[in-house]
Amino acid sequence: MPYVLSYLRRFGLPLLSLNDGAPRYMYDGKFAEAAKLSGWPWALTTEERNVSVASTLNRYLFLNGLDTDTVLAAGWPDPATMARLDSLTVGDMIKRVGGSDAFLRLLDAHGGTFTSSSAALGPIPDLAYHFGDQNLFRIRGGNDKLPSAMAKVLGNNIVLGAPVVAIRQSGRNVKVTVKDGREFTGDVVISTIPFTVLQDVAVAPAWSPRKKAMFEKMEWDKTVKVIVQTKSPSWLAKGVHGWPMAGSDQPWERLIDITGNEPGGFGNTFFYLNGANAEALLKRPRETRAQDIVDRFRKDMPDLFDEVVLVREFAWSEQPWIRGSFGGPPVGGAWMIASGQARGRIHFAGDFTTMKSGWVEGAIESGLRAARQIDPLAQPEAEPGLRQEITRR
Ligand SMILES: Cc1cc2nc3c(=O)[nH]c(=O)nc-3n(C[C@H](O)[C@H](O)[C@H](O)COP(=O)(O)OP(=O)(O)OC[C@H]3O[C@@H](n4cnc5c(N)ncnc54)[C@H](O)[C@@H]3O)c2cc1C
Repeated sequence: MPYVLSYLRRFGLPLLSLNDGAPRYMYDGKFAEAAKLSGWPWALTTEERNVSVASTLNRYLFLNGLDTDTVLAAGWPDPATMARLDSLTVGDMIKRVGGSDAFLRLLDAHGGTFTSSSAALGPIPDLAYHFGDQNLFRIRGGNDKLPSAMAKVLGNNIVLGAPVVAIRQSGRNVKVTVKDGREFTGDVVISTIPFTVLQDVAVAPAWSPRKKAMFEKMEWDKTVKVIVQTKSPSWLAKGVHGWPMAGSDQPWERLIDITGNEPGGFGNTFFYLNGANAEALLKRPRETRAQDIVDRFRKDMPDLFDEVVLVREFAWSEQPWIRGSFGGPPVGGAWMIASGQARGRIHFAGDFTTMKSGWVEGAIESGLRAARQIDPLAQPEAEPGLRQEITRR
């Protein structure tokens, strides 16, 4: 994530290390551990045995003409790649080069149950982040420190609590109206409002039919995180840890250990629920649904948690400012990749307008793209030594 890392350096933000995943897998009622590669109990092919999920996935990406480096460039995918992959899911892509159903289920246990059924074009950069070069960090004190640092260099000239309700372009400027009636006028507007919400903002002139179709057809997940703090990261002694430390076909789906080198002594984790698992949880009584997930997990893997000291949850689909988590093109949705194109004086940004949906890197990439649409000579403000490399990407 060259943009993210260079901004972290620019602002001198302190980092915490995060461990790559060494999970315990559970599916079809059988268990195996990533750290013990022999004798996995599923019907994997000979080529899929004795190697990690990451190694096998990287081979299948390679056989599809892909790798975990070049797919991270801002210009990926080129038109030929789009045409080649647009009608495929990740599962189709892997199966056509020899992947077994058993491997796909293992990949889903590791990467989330949505992985193999997702449109191939969408999650490939995501797979690259998780299964390629592992640079896993958190910002010590909270990831919000990055936008706060950016706001500070902009002179804290940020207006909060002012949802946009209307955007009107006329002649040489754009007028934005917020809920309490205040109006802001600019030469151009960069909108990062998630498409799930933008559809409710009044615009004049109206969106083009293509933009409208994109707002309606882009697929948004309904991620829920069930956050669990334990007295200590007791699982380390069991040889499992990291992102993820457990993955399954069960309602608790995956458990992510973000403790890394945090100094507090607690164990910090979250269950990462997506797709059908998130939807099932959202239908259950709010008061007990998070605890139910913890209880289910403890039944399946009773040795991993010591004392649970805190359980919380966060459901993205219930947040009025986004109403979903990750937006991306569905199968056959490659045409949406041009979603970053401006509409008159309105420019679009947000990670969901890049192939790095769900990543801060995509958010920054999209902001720089919008800045260059407005001023082609715009440069990211980063360390001078890194500027060349970033510009190249
Ligand atoms: C479940 C989940 C996990 C993630 N995990 C990671 C990760 O591990 N690593 C990583 O790098 N990234 C991760 N991300 C992505 C990261 O959170 C985003 O890339 C980042 O938050 C995008 O920043 P942003 O400022 O562009 O948009 P957002 O943070 O989405 O902010 C959009 C803003 O628009 C505001 N808004 C909405 N409607 C209006 C309106 N009408 N008027 C005015 N403002 C409005 C909202 O209030 C919000 O503040 C994750 C995202 C999700 C959903």
